[in-house]
Amino acid sequence: MFQLRLCLLLFLSSIVSLQAQQPKTYNSSEIYEAVQKLNVLGSVLYIAAHPDDENTRLISYMSNQVKARTAYLSLTRGDGGQNLIGPEIRELLGVIRTQELLGARRVDGGEQRFSRANDFGYSKHPDETLEIWNEDEVLADVVWAIRKFKPDVIINRFDHRRAGQTHGHHTASAILSLKAFDITNDASKYPSQLTLTETWQPKRLFYNTSWWRYGSQEAFDKLDKSNMLSFDIGTYYSSKGKSNNEIAALASSQHLSQGFGRLSQRGSQDEYIEFLKGESLNSSDNIFEGIDTSWNRVAGGKVIGDILKKIETNFNFKNPASHLPQLLEAYKLLQIIKDEHWKTIKTKELKTIIEACAGLYLEVSANTPNAAPNADVTLNMEVVNRSTANIDLVSYNLSTLSTGISKKMTLASNHKLNFEEGITIPSHSNYTTPYWLNTKSTLGMYTVKDQSLIGLPETPRTVFVDFNLLIEGTPINFTKPVIYRYSKPDKGELYRPFEIIPIVSASLSDEVYIFENDQQKEIEVSVKAGKDNIDGFVQMAYPKGWQVVPEKQNIKISNKGDIQKVMFTVIPPKNQSEGLITPMVNIEGEFYTDEIMEIDYAHIPFQTVLMPSESKVVRLNIKTEGTNIGYIEGAGDVVPESLRQIGYHVTIIKPAQISPENLDDFDAIVVGIRAYNIVEDLIFKQRFLLDYVKEGGNLIIQYNTNRGIKVDNLAPFDMQVSRDRVTDENALVTILDPNHPILNFPNKIGAQDFDGWVQERGLYFPDKWSKEFTPLLAFNDIGENSKEGALLVAKYGKGNYIYTGLSFFREFPAGVPGAYRLFANLLSAGKQEYNPPKN
Ligand SMILES: [Zn+2]
Repeated sequence: MFQLRLCLLLFLSSIVSLQAQQPKTYNSSEIYEAVQKLNVLGSVLYIAAHPDDENTRLISYMSNQVKARTAYLSLTRGDGGQNLIGPEIRELLGVIRTQELLGARRVDGGEQRFSRANDFGYSKHPDETLEIWNEDEVLADVVWAIRKFKPDVIINRFDHRRAGQTHGHHTASAILSLKAFDITNDASKYPSQLTLTETWQPKRLFYNTSWWRYGSQEAFDKLDKSNMLSFDIGTYYSSKGKSNNEIAALASSQHLSQGFGRLSQRGSQDEYIEFLKGESLNSSDNIFEGIDTSWNRVAGGKVIGDILKKIETNFNFKNPASHLPQLLEAYKLLQIIKDEHWKTIKTKELKTIIEACAGLYLEVSANTPNAAPNADVTLNMEVVNRSTANIDLVSYNLSTLSTGISKKMTLASNHKLNFEEGITIPSHSNYTTPYWLNTKSTLGMYTVKDQSLIGLPETPRTVFVDFNLLIEGTPINFTKPVIYRYSKPDKGELYRPFEIIPIVSASLSDEVYIFENDQQKEIEVSVKAGKDNIDGFVQMAYPKGWQVVPEKQNIKISNKGDIQKVMFTVIPPKNQSEGLITPMVNIEGEFYTDEIMEIDYAHIPFQTVLMPSESKVVRLNIKTEGTNIGYIEGAGDVVPESLRQIGYHVTIIKPAQISPENLDDFDAIVVGIRAYNIVEDLIFKQRFLLDYVKEGGNLIIQYNTNRGIKVDNLAPFDMQVSRDRVTDENALVTILDPNHPILNFPNKIGAQDFDGWVQERGLYFPDKWSKEFTPLLAFNDIGENSKEGALLVAKYGKGNYIYTGLSFFREFPAGVPGAYRLFANLLSAGKQEYNPPKN
């Protein structure tokens, strides 16, 4: 089932991939729609917490039916979620989900904004969320987004009155939206923003409600809806050949890393928004009531509106270029209006329409996908006028040069021109990487010092070309970022953004190196050249008490893109210790310490992310008993690799191989996370696992979600999995049975073993179990009852059955010593004479 769904997602991703990469060109219908939108001066800002929270039906409706300028402000980039399509988690997943949001907006016609809030994982209450986020900074960012975007109307996805009933990030997004609504027009609030923008007062604030908010469709039907507006978001767009709902489904399906590929819907469907704040209204479907959303809204706009309305009414689908003289007239008039906000927005829209009507094709392609500072790059420019309009290429400006290059030539109809220019990447260029990852983040916040970058979905491109044209005698310029165009025999034409990379980067083979005793380990460093002829050496930075030999390894790489691997020997200290090691590559006296991560999926543009190259080294004070571990994989975790690191021999047991003979030899069998939710075979194989325990085996089952468990008997005795979780990774731990062998053999487990845990203690703990089970640990989040189901042990026959919702799968890759010590004890259960707990 899971496999099938993944195939479906991958199939879907190949359909939508073209839009992610290719420069957009417009057909007549799209130009006409752009003209319609040009004539609407109204805007809507939709606010929620995560990528995939947004209601694409409503965003698409506002953008395509109402023709409003519509944006989605997602407070986070979704770093804390799970990734269904690849290994990226945390920051890298945030980069993927940022691009998926941009992909969704390309489909539904919206724009995308963010705040600096970091998605730190599940949060039960907005109070906790706002404490871990810096509430004042996130509120400042919401205010900033509103002051910059200047929405007439704000729509919250979540209900601010539901604290504790949904993800804390969700409620917090609504709470902050309400607070911001009241202060964005107050110049005394966040005054430093006002050097870059102005105060702004949105007219109204709504909450995008739904029947599920009221428990059932029936309850919702009975509700007094006098303070709600409704829209039929099933409307059909003949110019697109699609209904609004179909577009919304395509937009949602961009969230492939979340497994959001979904079926489209057709037919009439109502969507509701509840009025919360601002100027009251009489209409049942006009959110802009009392706001003039025509060109009359801006001083000097009426004459522009008159010209553009005529184009809209008499649009020439056969020859859109026939509108160029009027469009250019409107363009000239627009340049002299005083309202800078609308001037900027509408100039951009109008230029796109002029470019599309003229059938202009302007492209700048580099001869390489990336280059380091000081490198020489050849740019190939393609310029074609595919209309009969009179167009001259006056000059072009390369962003890397201070003076323009004069051309003075007429662009004959459909006559392609190519120009080649050699450029040198400036020595002071910033590397291409997501701006919010440039500085170390905290658990709750990204650090962004440059106010003008805050909220932007991506880092602005620094290598581009400005084409200066005369269209029907009117000077107008078009800016094109440099791209890399190439082809693959099995994929056709492909595009990548052009990127600036360091001359050299280095990476370590593992994120964590665990030393289970004082034996030294060999570790591998890969050095990649960002230019030809790299010559230097690598040194390691390492924590006090540790040793690394040799002191340096020489590096010599002839070709850009090639990798050289070198080995270092790491010698741990005698006692428990942890720290970071970093490879430092020295080229001509300068040290380079970054690693380049490349993210390459068909449904999003290619991404390059620079991160500090560092790995954790941990010297554990650990004893182990037994060596042979069998592992039955679930939804995927790195527990097998982690156990191998501390010296266990781990064999992956395929579900089909689970049989009494195959289980016999193992000292312990471990079942991966959510295995009972996704592995069909366990329905038939569970009895072999329980028999294995009965005969003296040791079975450790990690967490499963409480919905859709495929077996009736997860355990040999009654036990019920609940949604109980403890999200505070520092929650105080009570050891319920300090004398229990599992907490004493072979490692004595104490409070210090629960220090330094990450993200959470655990999840989906059982909340009911029969007397055969002994609970060993208890903890709770603030304000909640103690949870005792995180680690349950039962003697069954001659063996041991252990069920644990502790998040070992998160703690191992983070190198948390106590998690390793405790797990070693679970694996050793029964290796020592078992003393049943005294009741
Ligand atoms: Zn969410």
